[in-house]
Amino acid sequence: MEKRCIAVIGLDGLSFTYLNKLMDNGVIPYMKHYIYNSSIKRNLYAFPPVTPQSWTSIMTGVNIGKHGIYGFIMYDDQHNPKVFNAEMLGHPRIHEMLSLIGKKSIVINPIPTYPLYPIRKALQFSFDFFTPKPSYTPSRAKKYFRIMQSLFKDLSKTPEESLEIAKIHVELYLQLIEELINKEDYDLFWINLRYPDSMIHMLKDPHILSSKIFKEEMEIFRNIDRIFKTLAENSLNTVIVSDHGFSIYKYVININSYLYRNGFITLRDEAQTSDEIHGSLKKYKDIKTISWKKSVVRILRSPYLRFLGRFLKNIHNRISKKPIVIRFPVVDRRKSKAFAGTFYSFNVFVNDYNVVDSVITSLKNLPGIRGVYRKEQLFWGPYLSRLPDIYVEPWFDKGYYVFNTREIDPQNAPILSRKILPHHHPLGVFIMKKWSYGELPDPIPNYLVTNLIMIDLGVPISSEADGIMILRRALGKKPLVTSKYLTKWGIVMKLRKSLRKMK
Ligand SMILES: [Zn+2]
Repeated sequence: MEKRCIAVIGLDGLSFTYLNKLMDNGVIPYMKHYIYNSSIKRNLYAFPPVTPQSWTSIMTGVNIGKHGIYGFIMYDDQHNPKVFNAEMLGHPRIHEMLSLIGKKSIVINPIPTYPLYPIRKALQFSFDFFTPKPSYTPSRAKKYFRIMQSLFKDLSKTPEESLEIAKIHVELYLQLIEELINKEDYDLFWINLRYPDSMIHMLKDPHILSSKIFKEEMEIFRNIDRIFKTLAENSLNTVIVSDHGFSIYKYVININSYLYRNGFITLRDEAQTSDEIHGSLKKYKDIKTISWKKSVVRILRSPYLRFLGRFLKNIHNRISKKPIVIRFPVVDRRKSKAFAGTFYSFNVFVNDYNVVDSVITSLKNLPGIRGVYRKEQLFWGPYLSRLPDIYVEPWFDKGYYVFNTREIDPQNAPILSRKILPHHHPLGVFIMKKWSYGELPDPIPNYLVTNLIMIDLGVPISSEADGIMILRRALGKKPLVTSKYLTKWGIVMKLRKSLRKMK
């Protein structure tokens, strides 16, 4: 087959430091050669450096205020949490736009990955990235989907589970891509992979970012190099992009602990502990919880007896099948004046608008915080009202990170120093083999990616596309735009939603 237009490989959490480590160790010889000969090598800027919102910006060409996906967990008007999904999208992604002008796409793990809507001239597959159920569309894609099924017939297995599974996972992706490349035509081939992100989180070794290299890690990236080679050799242009990078952190800021201490949070007791991370709103079943208010817990947590409390807990956990966990009160999202989104959210929701300024002033006094912003200072667009009101930027480069819990231990300080751990950083990578236009800034904002690819394809970008000033400078003229994508896609989405309601 002739060379097709453009291929994109998305590598979650890839930073230049990590990429250099792989290249220096000879793990990715083909990619190394390719990167060396690429015309664009830029840092990519993503704030917040969180997977759902950053990939969605990368794939739509717009900022969070225009696509509306602001995190893993989205809250409705009643503050009920819901895992982000494609129904919440406010702007079409690149393959959805290309389909409207008759261009062909093959997309693996389009984010949000779920649900997958049938799109004309597009083969789509969702395997991971918080996909509740692996799926594909249209039905003729089944023969390719089957290649991955040997892994995913057992849905309990996810690539995050072990390096062994991750290795098989990438081998299967390689087979899938070779099949697709040999048999299918495309204008755009886009694949997002969970690496190195899932591996770094799994190993939790700070040295993995720049020096240490694991055997399985090498095998995984040797196959990613083969995937890249297959894509690059069959396409006129190829892009490597990541949604954020990684760095190492020594301090963890719990914004909710701080807001609680400053009187913005109301706590309430909850019967059970629940976990709202990574797409699963699951309740713990296999643990026994005991309220922090119980007098025995209080006594054993006092400074003099803490060691004894810990000792007794360890003994209990060793002999009992149900380990014991102290149950702390949780943030009452309805009654609190302001609260932070749980876990790795760099934001604060404000219920009482009279306190916005005092929350901002208060957060600015917290050490380790570089900036506190009203959402409209960072984002713009029709979905701004949906977004959390305040964004908090820690001093990433001084070793501060954010981890907000929904449970509050009233004894805990808002900033905890812990052993050094790797976690997300706002700088990812953007590498493009061919770029026929002028200079681009460094770093480039994440929402620029889709627009650069569409310009390379010679098609108009969305009239809502962000980064127009940068593009105008690089092109020497105003880029070609159209409002057709958004209006046509909007009509189809409305139809789908009303059809679903009728069911
Ligand atoms: Zn990510």
